[in-house]
Amino acid sequence: MSPLIRHCLHCGMSMSVTALHIDMLPPALLCHKCDQNVYQQHDGSCLTRDIAHNHETTKQALQKLDTILLECWQAYCQSLRLIVGGGVIREHILGQLHYYQQQHRLLSFKEESPNRGAIVVRLRAA
Ligand SMILES: [Zn+2]
Repeated sequence: MSPLIRHCLHCGMSMSVTALHIDMLPPALLCHKCDQNVYQQHDGSCLTRDIAHNHETTKQALQKLDTILLECWQAYCQSLRLIVGGGVIREHILGQLHYYQQQHRLLSFKEESPNRGAIVVRLRAA
C-alpha cells in the first residue's frame, strides 16, 4: 500500500495517511498542527458517478458504491451524486445507503428525482 498524503484545508499541514477501508468509515484523523478532524473538511464540491448504465448487475453496483464512497472520503468533496437509474439497482442502493447511514459511513441521502434516478449522498457536514 503506497502512502497517501492528506492536506489539512484549515492550516495546510500535510500528513501521510493509509488507504481507507469501508469498515473504517467514517475516518477520523486530527491534524498534527491545528487539531481539526481532517476527514471532515471539504471543499464544497459534489462528485457524480453513474453505477447503473453500464450493464452492471446489482452486485457490481453495490461494489461500485463501496469504491465510490471510499473515493469520496479520500477526496475532499462534500457530497456525492449517484446515478442509479429507475430499476432494481436503485432499490438495493437505497437499502444499502440506509444501512450505511446507520453505521455513520455517510451523513444523509435523498433522492434527487425518482424519475431521473439520482441520489444525492452527503458525506460531510456544512
Ligand atoms: Zn491543520
